[in-house]
Amino acid sequence: MARERWPRLSAFANISVYIDHSPNPPPAWTCHVCGTDWPCAKWRTANPGPAERKLLLPVISGLLPGAIRDLRGRVDGPQPPEIVKRFLFFLPLSDDEALAIARRMR
Ligand SMILES: [Zn+2]
Repeated sequence: MARERWPRLSAFANISVYIDHSPNPPPAWTCHVCGTDWPCAKWRTANPGPAERKLLLPVISGLLPGAIRDLRGRVDGPQPPEIVKRFLFFLPLSDDEALAIARRMR
């Protein structure tokens, strides 16, 4: 495949953070380094640019149904729209948009 078909390297500026701070296996949804809710502060402060957000969106969206299933039933746990906002932290979602996404993920 032609080299120019691959995303530019700059699109992966935060790749080491994403790999190092990957989530513990479900149903934990905690960072395996920080131990905090995933995506952890390292992920959240990585501030992905537009190209990186494009790459993250399908990856994170693929995790969302499982995360909603695992996290929504916990005592004092987050509601599905909160889970959507937590996982898609890099998108400026309103409460209504997060709710709409959560309903589609069921
Ligand atoms: Zn972490």
